[in-house]
Amino acid sequence: MTKRLIPVGPSGPRSLERLRSWRKCPQFFAYRYLEGMDFATAKNPLVRGTLIHQGLAHHAIQVKIRREGGDPDEFYDPLTAMALRAHEQRHLWGEYTEWILDRCQKVIHAFMEEDGPLGERHLRDVDILHVEQVFSFQVGPHTYDQKPDLVVRSRVTGKIHQWDHKSHAHPTLASFKRYATDLKFVALGWWGERLWGKDYGGPVIFSVGITEPYQFVCKPSEAVPFMIQQFPQMCLDAEQEIAMYASEDRAPRNYPKTAHEEVCFGSYGACDAREICRWGNPPAAAEVNLVEMLTAKGREG
Ligand code: SF4
Repeated sequence: MTKRLIPVGPSGPRSLERLRSWRKCPQFFAYRYLEGMDFATAKNPLVRGTLIHQGLAHHAIQVKIRREGGDPDEFYDPLTAMALRAHEQRHLWGEYTEWILDRCQKVIHAFMEEDGPLGERHLRDVDILHVEQVFSFQVGPHTYDQKPDLVVRSRVTGKIHQWDHKSHAHPTLASFKRYATDLKFVALGWWGERLWGKDYGGPVIFSVGITEPYQFVCKPSEAVPFMIQQFPQMCLDAEQEIAMYASEDRAPRNYPKTAHEEVCFGSYGACDAREICRWGNPPAAAEVNLVEMLTAKGREG
């Protein structure tokens, strides 16, 4: 039997990520969506997050199948799935691939040891409904896709939640507060309410602490009812701005630049397009110390 590898990562061309990119910086949006630049490079500090997501997705799907009495071997086991994903990305991550993989596998191994084959600890209080499934929703004439890491129903409250996995050096209060007003979480709240009505309980952050002793903490994302109410307008405003600049026939290198220290060099490190903004043309591949980048205290992915 051919085993399956769950596709983690972006949900395709209708991903809400397009609007998030616009809100981050119109110039970044233009590089990515008008010039078609692929920023999936070793500079991306989210490489750790990719492997952690891969491991958690395979653990969750295997727990779900075991609970339902099926054959979990339909999917790769979590550690093998992570190795396969790392191998696939080796051309980007280079000599650090094995180092990152080893580090992330230790975290997921510890998680699996704690949770057990039937999810008796971290997944104890939930029924797993969907793993990495794409949901589509409509705002005005626009259709968007989002792929929650996990959709679960609480066995305690009966409410349905989308879980979003985050990896942190150490989970802190700020780790949980920072995402609530992000367009991604506002969107989850908006379509979650429409899809599940009174059964919906809101997005949840599942934080994976990647520094020993490993910690796994699950908390609801802060409530943002006012922003959820305004979500359709937020989408329509962004789409209107995108269309306006397109109608101007503006050169992609001449889009508005956010040019703000917290965006050009934020908590995930330098914006992937920073060198292009500095020099006007893609520079020769920059020397990147990925190990230093991934171990830097406080970096999150
Ligand atoms: S470096 Fe700054 S101005 Fe340039 S694309 Fe990135 S965020 Fe925008």
